[in-house]
Amino acid sequence: MADTRAETPETTGEKQEEEAEKKPAEPELMGYLRELHREVSALEAGRVADYIPELARADPEWFGIAIATVDGRVFEVGASRQRFTIQSVSKPFTYGLALEEWGIDHVLSKVGVEPTGEAFNAVVLDEASRRPYNPMVNAGAIAVADLIPGRGATERLHRLLATFRRYVGHAEVPVDMPTFMSERTTGHRNRAIGHLMRGSGMLEDRIDETLDLYFQQCAVLVSCRDMAVMAATLANHGENPFTGERAVPPQFVKHILSVMYTCGMYDSAGEWAYRVGLPAKSGVSGGILAVVPGQAGIAVFSPRVDAHGTSLRGVRVCEALSARYGLHLFGDQRCSGSPLLEAAMKPGPDRK
Ligand code: GLN
Repeated sequence: MADTRAETPETTGEKQEEEAEKKPAEPELMGYLRELHREVSALEAGRVADYIPELARADPEWFGIAIATVDGRVFEVGASRQRFTIQSVSKPFTYGLALEEWGIDHVLSKVGVEPTGEAFNAVVLDEASRRPYNPMVNAGAIAVADLIPGRGATERLHRLLATFRRYVGHAEVPVDMPTFMSERTTGHRNRAIGHLMRGSGMLEDRIDETLDLYFQQCAVLVSCRDMAVMAATLANHGENPFTGERAVPPQFVKHILSVMYTCGMYDSAGEWAYRVGLPAKSGVSGGILAVVPGQAGIAVFSPRVDAHGTSLRGVRVCEALSARYGLHLFGDQRCSGSPLLEAAMKPGPDRK
């Protein structure tokens, strides 16, 4: 249909003014994020978690998206700078620290890598191997917290926070005291899991100290933007793309990403892997972090969560981004520089 607005000298003038003021074109990604944010804002299902009383204070409408690329750019929309407690999204990063401190064999002897198919706070332990199943569920994360070394609570916490700082790339990673105290006084289930593990020799004696450390790690304040940078650091083989600082030795990144892929979304990990196809971690405060290896980190924050404790808007956003940009790990990947295919082509040494 023809434009019904006739072009008078007046409107032509407007047009010229508009053109003169035109901002430089922004990347396609930014426009799409704005559109996606608008679209997904209409989704109102889910509820703000309140089993940790302090979490109930979140505004259900907070909604931010951030993407950080491995070449050091951030694309963000909505409440991407709103801070919230990281909760279970902390687990892969503490696991990386344990791997760095102790090496794979020792950590594997303490915490398995099998998905449970159960809720994050399920009271299930692998009695046969005397380990919690994996480091992404609460039992496993408490066992990982037990592995953080240091003389006393303060030194152990500082070790952990120093690591988080390298991932976010700035010094501001405080523990939110009200949330820490709130979970410390009401976290009976986690305390029970801790004592069960202590009872079967899966934890050291300093159980209250370790539980405090776990509650503190969950109460670290981050923004969606921070989480995107943390994810981008994993996407960038453990080196923060903004500061150039190494957050974790590169050889451990594949182990962190593997447990995120198989266990990061708990009892919806299978469905997530099927639909989104990226290593990820959710937290009950409404954060989701996903890693696109070699490309970028994705973070979404929206406190309305489903029965798995996963942000519903977060899932929707990640599904859309994965579909639009072909991010699924088993999607149509083009192979370049494959050592396997090169070895299949190159002549080897002469045979005797
Ligand atoms: N601190 C929370 C707990 O232990 C973390 C759970 C979560 O984010 N899924 O219950």
